[in-house]
Amino acid sequence: MLLRAEDALIEYGKSPAKTSNRKVAIALKKHFNWTPAVLDLPLEFGKLNDVPGKVLDVVGTLLGKQQGGITVPPEAICSHNDQQTERIHAKFPGDITTIAASALEDNTNCFMYTRKYFSSTPEFRAKVIVHEMCHSWGIMTDDPFYEGHDGYPGDFRVAMRNPDSFAGLIRDIGRHQK
Ligand SMILES: [Zn+2]
Repeated sequence: MLLRAEDALIEYGKSPAKTSNRKVAIALKKHFNWTPAVLDLPLEFGKLNDVPGKVLDVVGTLLGKQQGGITVPPEAICSHNDQQTERIHAKFPGDITTIAASALEDNTNCFMYTRKYFSSTPEFRAKVIVHEMCHSWGIMTDDPFYEGHDGYPGDFRVAMRNPDSFAGLIRDIGRHQK
């Protein structure tokens, strides 16, 4: 998923308007509210307009390129501790159905999973792992928006620090079939 997403982003970067890169363009709009027109906006101090570049950077991080390889194996605290996970995600108290997993520590792949994770599709589970890896490796501390919720993905500047935007885009452009 990550390698295919990386390839797709590199191709997009070479030639954004090409028909074969349309899937990436659609995903950038859907998950980041981003179009190439944004590049013409004046740069604000400390903020970047280059969403495809940022996503490519994060994909590289998740592939371990910056750290010389993420060698930490995935670990799980599989206690089905839905109450603890719910406390961590106090933003949606009582709504455990939105929560599949939590990242517990930075720079690890140690995640806590809830029942929702294990009852979901393989593709959803892959997206969840990418989402949690964005928290633990991509310096993204909170969840401004979840895919499917009102307001998603928000302004592209917000999406650029939203794990679900990265995970949703990587899922969409990293799929096997075209
Ligand atoms: Zn999250």
